[in-house]
Amino acid sequence: AVVTRFAPSPTGFLHIGGARTALFNWLFARHHGGKVLLRIEDTDRKRSTTEAIDAILDGLDWLGLDFDGEPTYQFQRAARHAEVANQLLESGHAYKCFATPEELEAMRAEQRANKQPMRYDGRWRDRDPSEAPDGAPFVIRLKTPQDGETVIDDAVQGRVTVQNAEIDDYVLLRADGTPTYMLAVVVDDHDMGVTHVIRGDDHLNNAFRQLPIYRAMGWEEPVYAHIPLIHGNDGAKMSKRHGALGADTYRDEYGILPEALFNYLLRLGWGHGDREEFTKEEAIAAFDLDGVGKSPSRFDLKKLENLNGHYIRAADDARLAMLVAPRMQGKVDIALLEKAMPQLKLRAKNLDELADGAAFLFKSRPLSIDEKAAKLLDDNGRAYLTRVSQALHGENDWTIEALEATSKSLAEQLDVGFGKLAQPMRAALTGTTTSPGIFDVLVLLGRDEALARIDDQID
Ligand code: GLU
Repeated sequence: AVVTRFAPSPTGFLHIGGARTALFNWLFARHHGGKVLLRIEDTDRKRSTTEAIDAILDGLDWLGLDFDGEPTYQFQRAARHAEVANQLLESGHAYKCFATPEELEAMRAEQRANKQPMRYDGRWRDRDPSEAPDGAPFVIRLKTPQDGETVIDDAVQGRVTVQNAEIDDYVLLRADGTPTYMLAVVVDDHDMGVTHVIRGDDHLNNAFRQLPIYRAMGWEEPVYAHIPLIHGNDGAKMSKRHGALGADTYRDEYGILPEALFNYLLRLGWGHGDREEFTKEEAIAAFDLDGVGKSPSRFDLKKLENLNGHYIRAADDARLAMLVAPRMQGKVDIALLEKAMPQLKLRAKNLDELADGAAFLFKSRPLSIDEKAAKLLDDNGRAYLTRVSQALHGENDWTIEALEATSKSLAEQLDVGFGKLAQPMRAALTGTTTSPGIFDVLVLLGRDEALARIDDQID
């Protein structure tokens, strides 16, 4: 059975690239009826924080990605990592290296001077540890194959070959007994039963260093799938400026719905014909690694926002009201907000735009009128508004249909286009020049409040 994992380092928030890696692992496992595990790679004690762990868990949860079992915390497994390093030592696949830091620095300086690739030269590979001074500190290094080549049939990158001579005998266990990242990842993936390692292609080189551990231990090798990284929309490497932000920023600051980010990330580097929209179930049914492209994808915030607008229009009104309310100032009537949603969501691309659009509902009288709206309330506008007020005071059937009939017949009577009346009405009713349809505004505000706002402007 398929087992995948998402293995974030909690040194920052769940950024866009990580979220997509998590999504692909999740979809692949769900598609194949397998498991997807979460491993927090918190071995960098200085840079790992509980805030980052919480933000990652929170972001994954918000995106709707659930993981099987409890998360594994890598640091807690340090003893197990050391155990494997010692097994490799005993089986002759690893060796103690007593080279001092000064010695290694001199080695590198010489390589640099000779324009040689800088890598450990294997100076303790064949030496007897008894040659080292008593009690001298040592690291444990992997004895990697020196001849031939290593081939990986990557599920995304295809066949990739590296000459073994290029892979040095890297450190598995440091002098203080702590495991290196390279060792920890392999031991954990093996112990967790991971069958498919799906991650960013910045880790492709690591795969060539990690495979020899599997082989030395006689462990079954995983299938590798290295996904091209996400670039900014100018093609350059993703940075903050390009939107390399935490999922929480997209949620909180950009007002993005999780289903919009889910769909956007899904199609960032993966395709399924020209189909654009997927429910979660549809994505699970359609997802496989053969749909993942080989070239970097470009992150485009505009596209994400347009998609978000689409999902806002599809979203349940009560849910939207709950999401928008905290983004509004002052007291908010949730029921009224929900009632206004069908109209408000026609235009909005994010939750803040919904909040802005809804603001008129909860303004207190007399309304403050913005500059543009004030221009519509000049003498001319106010004269029209006076006629509107008279007509609407006579209207007792406060429905969209009746209000529309009354207002349009007034426009005919005055021999003007309806816009001439609607503009000052909108200004008086909302204090702005943009709002849902004017009859919706009248109905949402209710008879008393609507008439009072109009009359406030003509006294
Ligand atoms: N912790 C690594 C990272 O956040 C991922 C390691 C892996 O997927 O093998 O980049």
